[in-house]
Order: sequence, then structure tokens, then C-alpha cells
Amino acid sequence: MFDSLSERLGGVFDRLKGRGALTEADVRTAMREVRIALLEADVALPVARSFVDSVTEKAVGQQVLRSITPGQQVVKIVNDALIEMLGPDTAELELDVTPPAVVMMVGLQGSGKTTTTAKLAKLLKKQGKKVMMASLDVNRPNAQEQLAILGTQIEGATLPIVAGQQPVDIARRALQAAKLQGFDVLMLDTAGRLHVDQQLMDEMKAVADISKPQEILLVVDSLTGQDAVNVAQSFGEQVPLTGVVLTRMDGDARGGAALSMRAVTGKPIKFAGVGEKLDAIEPFHPQRVAGRILG
Ligand code: GDP
Repeated sequence: MFDSLSERLGGVFDRLKGRGALTEADVRTAMREVRIALLEADVALPVARSFVDSVTEKAVGQQVLRSITPGQQVVKIVNDALIEMLGPDTAELELDVTPPAVVMMVGLQGSGKTTTTAKLAKLLKKQGKKVMMASLDVNRPNAQEQLAILGTQIEGATLPIVAGQQPVDIARRALQAAKLQGFDVLMLDTAGRLHVDQQLMDEMKAVADISKPQEILLVVDSLTGQDAVNVAQSFGEQVPLTGVVLTRMDGDARGGAALSMRAVTGKPIKFAGVGEKLDAIEPFHPQRVAGRILG
């Protein structure tokens, strides 16, 4: 993950640190290289631009250039800016309500939404919570069965399937069942689509109205790069997303979606999917990711 970006930045930093004194021109040259490295990692252009502008502004200050270790100071400024771009803190799930807390999972088809629903359920179960999952996907054949199978694999509860029931009615039934049976968390796996379309948005809004989720998590595929960020923006305009789960980070060599998501959408990445197995999910730690990039 982030290998080539890390390598590129490493080269720039070595050159900066290798010199005793730095001129403003040296810093500007280095920042041009940083900008190219970010763009090659598929970071959104406005994000790369404002990143480099803000770093340059801080780095060409007299205090930095006249210090004993200007190169190291510039590297620190880049480090801080990177953490800020990724989001300053790890964003937790906010489930501290009278149970059941509702977590609504949304996203395009194939993004990894159903798998992520089961992964999160497993994680929450490990934390001692009683979790029920319900699939509201009545479009994709076998989507509800797929979630039931994953439920069995994690030894978790799923809402029994009632053939022919529509998403809003399933949500209502799931809420009632979760309340009656004393579940702490209800996870609603909503239907995906191939593209963002109005029908999908209307269905999502109706389900959100009924279930009043504490968390609406968008699942997006990190491998789609800037598209993932665009999808997040489209969803965010329609429903109040509380966070993003970036899947397939295990195969993401470039990292553009991870790097641009927060800055473009304002939404925190809460988790990263890092494999097909049901425990292959991690809380997203901006500092650690920044550390990995900076080597
Ligand atoms: P959905 O249509 O959005 O519900 O997508 P699925 O949950 O059915 O996932 C589609 C495929 O992506 C499955 O084969 C999953 O195993 C796989 N997948 C999901 N998340 C990840 C991940 O983080 N890493 C990898 N490598 N594969 C994933």
C-alpha cells in the first residue's frame, strides 16, 4: 500500500535532508516533486494543490530556512499536513444510544458492502455487543441469502427472510425484532446499484427515515480511486453519511481514494477493508497511514 508514493516522497526528503542550508527555491523544487508524486498516487488535483500550497507557505518561512535542520523541519511540516489531509483522528462508531443502535450500510453494487456488514458485525460482537444484521437488498438475487450465510459464518444473528417484502417494511420489521430481542446494534445492509441513481437514493432516504440510523456508512472500493471519492460526494449530498469504509485497501498500491476522501467529502474514513476474510477489517488510523507513507 502506498509503496510508490512512499518511495517518491522518500527520495524528495532525502535530498532535502542531505543539504545543510535550504533556499526558498530548493523548497519550491521539492514541493513540485511532492505535487507530482501525489498526483501519480491519484490524489484529487485540488487536494494535491492545496496540500502543496499550504506546506510551501509554512516551509519557506524564515524560521524554517534559518534553523539548524531546515530539511527535517520541512519533512515534519509535510508529515503534519499529511495527517491533516487524512483526518486528524481515528473516527469511532458512535453507537452510544438506547439500543438498538442502527448502522445503515450504503454503497454501489460490488463495493464490498455485504462483506463489510458482516465484518463489522463480527468486530462489534467481539466487543461484546449483541448484533443483528438484516439485508434490505431485494434487487440482487440471493443478496439476503448471502448475508444469512455470512451471519452463520460469524455466528451472528440475521433477520429471518420473508419473501416479497419491500426494503422499508424489512427495516421496520428488523427494528421491531431488534428491540424485542434486546439487540444492541442493528446493521441494515441496503441494496446497491451499478451507478448512483435516483431510485437508489429515494430508497435509502426512506429506509433512513424509518430506521433513524446512528451511523450511515458508505462502502466504497479504494481501487476505483477518484471514482470512489466522487461516489462518496454523490451519496453525501443525498443522505447524512457519518463515515466511509474503504474496501480492497489490501490491493490498493496508489492510495488516491484514501488520501483525498476526507479533504474532498469532509467525511472520515472509519474503517479499511484489507482482505476477503471476515476479520480483514481495521479501524482507519490517519497517523499510522501517514507514517506508512512517510516510511
Ligand atoms: P456488495 O455487492 O457491495 O455487497 O459486495 P460483496 O460484499 O458481495 O463483495 C464483493 C467481493 O469483494 C467479494 O468477493 C468480497 O470477498 C470482496 N471484498 C470485499 N471487501 C474486500 C476487501 O477489503 N479486500 C478484498 N481483497 N476483497 C474484498
